[in-house]
Amino acid sequence: MSQPVLIAAELKGLLEPDQLEGLEVTWLSADETVPKGEWVAIVPLLSRWVGGTELKHLPKLRIIANCAVGYDNVDVVAAEMRKVFVTNTPDVLTDATADLTWALILACARRLAEAIALVRSGRWTGWHPEQLLGMELRGRTLGLFGAGRIGQAVGRRAVPFGLRIIYAARTPKPEFQRDTGAVRMEWPGLLAESDILSLHAPSTPETKGIVNSETLGRMKPGAILVNTARGDLVREEALANALEDGQLGAAGLDVYADEPAIHPRLRAAPRAVLLPHIGSATHDTRRKMAAIALANVQAVLKGKAPLTPVFR
Ligand code: NAP
Repeated sequence: MSQPVLIAAELKGLLEPDQLEGLEVTWLSADETVPKGEWVAIVPLLSRWVGGTELKHLPKLRIIANCAVGYDNVDVVAAEMRKVFVTNTPDVLTDATADLTWALILACARRLAEAIALVRSGRWTGWHPEQLLGMELRGRTLGLFGAGRIGQAVGRRAVPFGLRIIYAARTPKPEFQRDTGAVRMEWPGLLAESDILSLHAPSTPETKGIVNSETLGRMKPGAILVNTARGDLVREEALANALEDGQLGAAGLDVYADEPAIHPRLRAAPRAVLLPHIGSATHDTRRKMAAIALANVQAVLKGKAPLTPVFR
């Protein structure tokens, strides 16, 4: 007998028929709230909150298979209390997100947004020795806040650019240190020493708002901030101030506190490179993310352990 499951409608084009075998799918579009009913699994996008109310609506639920590695959109404690599995999609998106982080680092360091705008405006008057001068990377310091899968992948890519690497994480990473020469420090050291500070920690009560007016004030003048983690790690008003008064050299952002809204002063800042949350957006990665989410659903519904649980 097929099992009733709710799947984000936006995933339809990424899934193969065999991944849906044995499932009776209700496609849930972004503007619909979670309905009440007998569904045993839900596959949400990161933009859907799944908390107490949603769990109450789905009394037969056995798994929330989030289609993202971050799971700050799920009330994990409420799910655990109801013995509902929560899974995510780690590893498959690491390279894509690390590559995108590097796109932002390079775009900020070499002022690509301003350069592209100049060319498009038709006002470029030709080569000038002091035009759009940026930051030379060799010999500078890259700070990683969070050195898990993505943070380390960003760090490994920094070696050929000649960057010194420092990082903050809850636990030391000896292999990463050995391979890249990275040095572990506490958050204050990272703020003081980074020429480029890149955020790779999840959104948690400890990390929310960790980049604020006080911590921005402790960064090197002219430093670059890059955020491909979660928007609420950064206080956007404070970031806009730091960009406007020149304390910060540039900011490269893929994520925002209130997506899809973007703070108007960030949108207006010439030194902000703003992307629409496309960290994992490659054909291969998005298919793999959807496949893992469905493989988790299939495993749990067959009474097996989930492949990538966020708690055990
Ligand atoms: P991960 O492997 O779990 O790494 C997270 C890192 O953050 C770990 O090194 C962890 O330390 C560290 N950390 C957690 N809390 C911390 C704290 N309070 N202080 C210092 N470090 C802390 O996760 P990942 O796969 O690299 O993904 C990281 C985040 O990227 C995800 O949570 C997600 O929000 C975001 N993301 C965004 C996109 C996008 O589209 N822009 C795509 C993928 C992921 P320990 O290693 O010591 O535990």
